[in-house]
Amino acid sequence: MLLRMSSLFLRTLRDDPADAEVPSHRLLARGGYIRRAAPGGFTWLPLGWRVFRNVERVVREEMDAMGAQEVHFPALLPREPYEATGRWTEYGPNLFRLKDRRGNDFLLGPTHEEMFTLLVKDLYGSYKDLPVSLYQIQTKYRDEARPRAGLFRGREFTMKDSYSFDVDDAGLDASYAAHRAAYIRIFDRLGLEYVIVSAMSGAMGGSKSEEFLHPTSIGEDTFVRSPGGYAANVEAVSTVVPESIPFDGLPEAHVEDTPDTPTIATLVAVANELFPDAGYTGASTLKNVVVTLAHPDGTREPLVIGLPGDREVDAKRLEAQLAPAEVEPFTDFAAHPDLVKGYIGPQVLGAEGKSGIRYLVDPRVVPGSRWITGANEPGKHVFDLVAGRDFSWDGVIEAAEVLPGDPAPDGSGPLELARGVEMGHIFQLGRKYAEALDLKVLDENGKLVTVTMGSYGVGVSRAVAAIAESTHDELGLVWPREIAPADVHLVATGKDAAVFEAAQSLAEELVAAGLTVLYDDRPKVSPGVKFKDAELLGMPTIVTVGRGLAEGVIEVRDRATGERSEVAVADAAAAVL
Ligand code: ATP
Ligand code: MG
Ligand code: MG
Ligand code: MG
Repeated sequence: MLLRMSSLFLRTLRDDPADAEVPSHRLLARGGYIRRAAPGGFTWLPLGWRVFRNVERVVREEMDAMGAQEVHFPALLPREPYEATGRWTEYGPNLFRLKDRRGNDFLLGPTHEEMFTLLVKDLYGSYKDLPVSLYQIQTKYRDEARPRAGLFRGREFTMKDSYSFDVDDAGLDASYAAHRAAYIRIFDRLGLEYVIVSAMSGAMGGSKSEEFLHPTSIGEDTFVRSPGGYAANVEAVSTVVPESIPFDGLPEAHVEDTPDTPTIATLVAVANELFPDAGYTGASTLKNVVVTLAHPDGTREPLVIGLPGDREVDAKRLEAQLAPAEVEPFTDFAAHPDLVKGYIGPQVLGAEGKSGIRYLVDPRVVPGSRWITGANEPGKHVFDLVAGRDFSWDGVIEAAEVLPGDPAPDGSGPLELARGVEMGHIFQLGRKYAEALDLKVLDENGKLVTVTMGSYGVGVSRAVAAIAESTHDELGLVWPREIAPADVHLVATGKDAAVFEAAQSLAEELVAAGLTVLYDDRPKVSPGVKFKDAELLGMPTIVTVGRGLAEGVIEVRDRATGERSEVAVADAAAAVL
């Protein structure tokens, strides 16, 4: 394949786009790989689409190799299946809901458990049909609280999602293990560093879930790891509260969080352990968070943040019920001298939609307080309370979660905290969806048994961003060969017709050998601009045909290492292959 810069639909930009927060977003936009079309929505341009398809190809090859079969669902889905599992409501504000002309409810699929369950129910009825693993590579829609970092967190993005169906637990274990192995191969081939972390507390029992986190400071997940190999998403670590803390009727405050986090169960368990009489049940659209108050004298007390009463009511709705004068919005915590500063650590910061978390303090449960609400920035103070209690609020409200140096739950040494971005997620769903949607098959004895399921996701568009982010340098993008939009960036410099002829025939030779060549054949562009573009665009090998041609040599440069060599024209193709 020969891509000519003279006609390629590409404009590289000199300046960083104003909205680009992270290097990958900046470089993908400047390099003409993507264009923003909507908040959290991106158009793939020719070079970007080639990268995307390369990532997609790797994912598809590994899914096919493990025996999963590809299908493709619509993104526009009816309400009923999601109503049956409760997710129509539980998904909360993250779900794009819409109506057709007859007034029927639809949604844009955020993930497809329901549809896959119904598909298998539709066609299969016997244990002999199982196991089966199905997957799709498909556009997903989530009205994320804060779309950010370009392709990292879109509202429309591409996911490979697969679902396994088994008759029994052993079968599910095997399907899960097969997916885990395939994910290891996928991320190895993509050249992405990853840590496999537990995504669910072992103490919660039941289902097993692991995430493939790519360690990066721009990630929104916080995980812990020990030298002994323990690794868990902080969301999953259940030992969040020192058990020695006495509870003497401290207040409740409120936190609203986005749905779809496994944390709820953990936090509810902790809350119940601390306050056995409280009867915390949690709600899937809300989260109870336990923090401690650390007083200046060193004593600590727990503070439960959760919604009393109707736990289905989310904080935004509560807020809407209040007269505006009662609600004091804040964005800058430091601007409230009468508020006591608080801090909630990664237990909250690691949660989904963390940047959109809103906090309310209820005057009914914290006497003397006012309603306050605000959205936090990751890593910043996220919790304030109005003073006026009969005990000192001068202490720092600390996160009651794992701190660096704490022992790992499995005893494998001190924990360190790190940030990461979730690239993949494997999950033993068990029978939840099959039960809700009545997916049963006949077993060997002719008895109906409920199928057990797993669900497995890879962020395909997010992977493009992560690869760009982890490989770039100060000059621009640096694609690994498997993912690069072209194998070679061939630059012809100067005005000499002989140069362009030699470059053209080298391009043809490389294409004939099976390579994709991005050929900078632009006649009136200076060498400086061409080299800058080649560095920005990031093909793994840059070949320059220019002045050296008179002496019979061209230059071959490795984009990643910067290593250059002069090669005889006759040996050029061999040097590149
Ligand atoms: P996150 O914790 O980053 O919000 P998630 O846990 O909500 O992700 P899953 O529902 O597990 O995501 O979806 C599977 C995969 O889809 C994730 O591992 C991630 O790679 C990708 N993904 C999820 N949300 C987005 C998004 N908004 N933009 C791009 N990719 C996403
Ligand atoms: Mg999410
Ligand atoms: Mg997650
Ligand atoms: Mg996940």
